[in-house]
Amino acid sequence: EAKRSGRNAARLFDESLDEGIRLRRQIESNLSQAIARDELSMLFQPIVATDTFEVVGFEALLRWHAVAGGPISPAAFIPIAEESNLIHELGDWVLARSLAVLKDWPGQYVSVNFSPRQFRRHNFVGYVMEQVQRANVAPSRLQIEITETAIFDDAERAADTMYRLRQMGFRIALDDFGTGYSSLYNIRKFALDSLKIDRSFIDGMMRERESVAIVHSIIHLGQALGLGVIAEGVETDGQVAMLRAAGASHLQGYLFAVPITAEHAAALAKSGITGVYAAVPSTVAES
Ligand code: C2E
Ligand code: MG
Ligand code: MG
Ligand code: MG
Repeated sequence: EAKRSGRNAARLFDESLDEGIRLRRQIESNLSQAIARDELSMLFQPIVATDTFEVVGFEALLRWHAVAGGPISPAAFIPIAEESNLIHELGDWVLARSLAVLKDWPGQYVSVNFSPRQFRRHNFVGYVMEQVQRANVAPSRLQIEITETAIFDDAERAADTMYRLRQMGFRIALDDFGTGYSSLYNIRKFALDSLKIDRSFIDGMMRERESVAIVHSIIHLGQALGLGVIAEGVETDGQVAMLRAAGASHLQGYLFAVPITAEHAAALAKSGITGVYAAVPSTVAES
C-alpha cells in the first residue's frame, strides 16, 4: 500500500514536472512573438504620499495576454525571459511604452521594473539616458526599480552604475526590500532614493508581530539613510493607519487602485488624489 502510494506520488510529481517544462517551452516560443502579435500591454498602479494621498507616481506593470492561451503572469514569464536574451527586447518595449505615457501626466514619475540582466547590461546608464532623451522627458521622471539580486552580486559595479544614474537625475528604488540577501552594511554604499517594502511583510502586518517589527525596522533604516520608504501591497485601512504611524512616506496597493490602463492613469494623474479617497474607482478591474 505504502509502495503504491509512493509510486502514485512519483507519477504525480513527474506529471507536474512535465507540465512545468511544457509550460516553460510554450512561454519561450510564444513570448518571442508576443510583441509582434500585439499581445503585450502596460498597466500603471498609483503610488501615493502617505500624508496627503496625492499621486506622486505610477509603477508600470507588464501584462501578457496570449491570443491562444489567455493571460500569463509576469511573475511566470519574466524569469523565463530573463534566462534568454528576450529580456532585452521585452525591456526595451516596456521602457519605451512607460516613458511615452509621461506626456499625459502633469508631473508624476513612472516607476519601471528592470531585471538584473537589464541592469547589468553593457552601458546601462547610456542606454536609459538615450531612451529618456528620445522620449523627450527629464530623467527625474523615471524611477528605476531594481531588486537586491541585481546589485549585490557585483556590488562595486552596481554602486558605480547607480551613482552615475543618480548624478543624471534618475530616481532609484530598491524593490521587494527585505526578501533578498542585502547586507545592511552595504546599503549605505548605494545611491538610492527609496526602499520598497515587500508586499509579504505588509500582508503579514495585521497578523504577526514579526512582520510589524520588520516593517518598522525598514522604515527606520530608510529614515536614517534619508530615503523614501514605499509600502507595496496596501489593501486595508488598518495597514494605512499602521504605516502612517510608523512613518512610511509612500503607499501603493489595491486599497488605492489596482494597476489601471494608461488612459485611466492619465485621468488620475490629472485629478491627483486616489483611493478609497478615490477619483478613479479602485474597482476598475484589471483587464
Ligand atoms: P513587483 O515589482 O514587486 O510589483 C508589485 C506586484 O504586486 C505587481 O504584481 C502588482 O500588481 C502587485 N500588487 C500591487 N498592489 C497589490 C495589492 O494590494 N495586493 C496584491 N495581492 N498585489 C498587489 P504583477 O503586476 O503581477 O507583477 C509581478 C512581478 O513581475 C513584479 O513584482 C515584477 O517583479 C515583475 N514585473 C512586472 N512587470 C515587469 C516589467 O515590466 N519588467 C520586469 N523586469 N519585471 C516586471
Ligand atoms: Mg516593482
Ligand atoms: Mg515590488
Ligand atoms: Mg514585490
